[in-house]
Order: sequence, then structure tokens, then C-alpha cells
Amino acid sequence: MRVLIVYAHPEPTSFNAAMMREAVAVLSAAGHEVIVSDLHAMGFDPVSDRRNFSTVVDPGRLSQQTEEAHASAHNGYVPELQVEMDKLAWCDLLILQFPLWWLGLPAILKGWIDRVFALGRAYGGGRWFDRGVLANKRAMCSVTVGGPPELYSDSGWYGPVGPILFPIHRGILGFVGFSVIEPFVVHGPSRISQRDRAAYLARYRQRLAAIERAPVLANPRTADYEGFTLRSGMRPLPGATSVF
Ligand code: FAD
Repeated sequence: MRVLIVYAHPEPTSFNAAMMREAVAVLSAAGHEVIVSDLHAMGFDPVSDRRNFSTVVDPGRLSQQTEEAHASAHNGYVPELQVEMDKLAWCDLLILQFPLWWLGLPAILKGWIDRVFALGRAYGGGRWFDRGVLANKRAMCSVTVGGPPELYSDSGWYGPVGPILFPIHRGILGFVGFSVIEPFVVHGPSRISQRDRAAYLARYRQRLAAIERAPVLANPRTADYEGFTLRSGMRPLPGATSVF
């Protein structure tokens, strides 16, 4: 299996870095090919705009998706983006390794997705969910959170982690076709003992060793939505195989 780990933490001695290194070690030892995009070490630029492209459709007005469609068809992405797109196309398994920041992705990782998951490369023309460009691949979030499990319970401030990660699981990974593996979540690594941190790493090694059998989350099947009618008056998307 070919594994891409996209790692987003600025500190090489962080717990996230330890998790990334565990993943490289366990998956490599199991015979998988593993590459890491270390976004901070790369100095990855997360801002998505005209800087993505070497081609131009309309120099007067930027329509990001129009430019993406054109660049996808004409090999028009700048080299640093094309490299990441090639890694995405290459992998069978994508692991996003990150700390939860403001209940979401750190900006550098969100920017990697904004730029790399481009129209024509990751989705488009009716290719989403089970018909997605990246169908037959799997993805998993490996995430640390600062708060204890109680804050992420039904009665806690934030509620369960599942709905918090839903925009990533459904709106990003599922949308482009990935089968999404249940996330691996570490609570408060800086607030627990060294022994508990070691236990988390041991559990993560077990998860990784069994990654090919790990349970996946439910994702929509596009065929189930063929009969939908749009009451909003909006036009269907170009190339859509359903009304959406
Ligand atoms: P670190 O603090 O780097 O590491 C924890 C401990 O693990 C350290 O003592 C380190 O030495 C130790 N360690 C490193 N390697 C190993 C190893 N191999 N074995 C054992 N121990 C090791 N939290 C929330 O819950 N919700 C939020 O919305 C939220 N928003 C945030 C927004 C921002 C901008 C920031 C900066 C933080 C936010 N946090 C939030 C907190 C954040 O999620 C946590 O600080 C983070 O998840 C902790 O992970 P870390 O890798 O940074 O831990």
C-alpha cells in the first residue's frame, strides 16, 4: 500500500510529530511505501489564489474553479502544487496528522486541501462521493485535541468529536471519494502522564498495524439522490450525474 501522511505541526518534538514518526515506522515495517508532506518544514504556502496557476483563463476576474478546471486540463499548476497533487494521486491511504485548532484544521493544512483538492484533479464533472476521483482510496484523521474527553462528550462544551470532524470527513475527504476510516483521537497529550502518552502511542501502533481492516464511516451514495428535484431554482452543476 502507498501511504501519504500530511503532517501539520510546527514543532518537531511535539506529540503530533511523535505520532507521525510512529506511523512512518509501523507502516514501513509492514512493507508499505510511506511518504510525508511535512507542511511546516516545507514552508507550504496555504493561500489559494492565482499563485496556484501557470495558466490563465480570465486575467480580468478570478473564478477559482474555472481556473482550476483549465489548469487541470492544461498542466497549468505551479510545480510545488503539482508535486502535492501527484502524491495525492499516488497514495492508497491518506493520513492527516494534526492538532485540533479552533475546532478545525490548522490553516496550513486547510490551505493544503484548498489548493491541492482542485477541480479537475480531486472532483468535478459529477465525480464526487462514491463516483469520486479518489474513490478506492482511504483516508484517516489522526488528531490531537487539547481538551479532556469530558469536554467532548454529549454534556461537554463542544459535544462529541464526530460532529466536529464531520466537515472534514464528509465535506472534504468523503466528497472527493475517500472511504473515511474512523479517526484516531488523542486527548490532552500535554495534560497527561508520560505513561498515558506512551499508552496512546501503543494504541496508535495497533490501529496502524490493522489499518487495512479498520472500520470506515458511512458516506452518501450518489445513486440514492438521482430522483431529487431542486426546488431552489438553482441550475444543476455542469456535468452532474444527479441534480446536484
Ligand atoms: P505537545 O504539547 O507538543 O506534546 C504534549 C507532550 O507530549 C509534550 O510534553 C511532549 O514532550 C510529549 N511528547 C512528545 N513526543 C513524545 C513521545 N514520543 N512520547 C511521549 N510523549 C511525547 N484544543 C481543543 O481541544 N480545542 C480547540 O479548539 C483548540 N484550539 C487550539 C487553537 C490553537 C491556535 C492552538 C495553538 C491550540 C488549540 N488547542 C485546542 C490545543 C491543541 O489542540 C493541543 O495543544 C494539541 O492538540 C496538543 O498536541 P501537540 O502535539 O501540540 O502536543
